[in-house]
Amino acid sequence: MKILVECMHRVRETKVLVVDPSNLNLDHLREVAKVIREGGLVVFPTETVYGLGADAFNREAVKRVYHVKGRPADNPLIVHISNIGQLEHVAETDYLTNDIYKIIEKFWPGPLTLIIPKSRRIPYEVTAGLNVVAVRMPAHPVAINLIELCETPIVGPSANPAGKPSPTSGEHVKRDMMGKVDVIIDSGETLYGVESTIIDFTREFPVLLRPGAIPVEEVERHLQKKIVIPDSARGLIEASEALSPGMKYRHYAPDTPLIILESKDYSDLKSYSEKVLEYVKNLKRSGKKIIVLASRETRDYYGEIDILLLGSRKNLFEVARNLFSVLRIIDELDVDLAVAEGFEERGLGLTIMNRLRKASGYNIVKID
Ligand code: AMP
Ligand code: MG
Repeated sequence: MKILVECMHRVRETKVLVVDPSNLNLDHLREVAKVIREGGLVVFPTETVYGLGADAFNREAVKRVYHVKGRPADNPLIVHISNIGQLEHVAETDYLTNDIYKIIEKFWPGPLTLIIPKSRRIPYEVTAGLNVVAVRMPAHPVAINLIELCETPIVGPSANPAGKPSPTSGEHVKRDMMGKVDVIIDSGETLYGVESTIIDFTREFPVLLRPGAIPVEEVERHLQKKIVIPDSARGLIEASEALSPGMKYRHYAPDTPLIILESKDYSDLKSYSEKVLEYVKNLKRSGKKIIVLASRETRDYYGEIDILLLGSRKNLFEVARNLFSVLRIIDELDVDLAVAEGFEERGLGLTIMNRLRKASGYNIVKID
């Protein structure tokens, strides 16, 4: 019997449903909601990246999410809700502070995730054994209507195999999840293209666990309070203390090796790109095929060197939005190594550097 159950989880016929977010077909979404209510897995769009959805109260479905992603059991999932009434089913609302309500009022629905005490109903499979839960209300018409029709909160980790770049388009999720889930909802490209900002409100001071689509400065301005930014949120070290020293995981990572060339100061872009160019030319002498991940402002300095354009430094929203697609494109090219420019760690620059550093497996070179 056990073997039968395992087989059922492995082989799936995936239904792909194209849903236009500006012209929702609620009958279609109702069918998808039924799949989730019956314990199925559904890939759905959010305003950040695509999520791998399952009923947050269904332990077996949640376990299958880990299995399908190949996600380590110690990496908890974010719970997505569609209305504020669901919060009390997910969190211990007696312990919610004024700061938390201030954040919810201002940023929900939207790409900001709160770490708060979990309710007893949320299974430990969702939180990886922790007594705190990550919650957010997404601002995407498909996501919010789907959850509403499910009448249950849903977990929604990024719908990519663990360690790989997150999916920001229907093409990405079809490539990553076909045959592994019951339904894929294809709603085209996502708006932000990076995940939500995660802030832990269960400690003495709010702590940034992951920079994301909402700049941390914006949250600080609203709260009139400093948010602690640990090195792990900057993408400089692993967050988990459980890891043995020296052990390095890659997240968001292309198969091709990636190096980040960082500077203390990006105000003189000419001098910075000349250093990048020199570094790349040296590597090319050893016969390596290299691609440079460059910005609009620096691209012209690289002459004959092949580049992939991330976007403009004056519009980091664009860079963040393109980042995961670009990381995926690297592997479609015939190159031995990708070299990425660094960005100033301000606003979305912090989010971009977190993803790039982790994608490189902390392969950071200072070129000042
Ligand atoms: P993803 O599902 O790919 O968007 O990643 C979710 C992120 O949220 C991971 O980095 C998790 O470690 C983090 N997360 C989820 N739940 C919790 C929690 N209860 N406490 C701390 N971090 C969490
Ligand atoms: Mg992820």
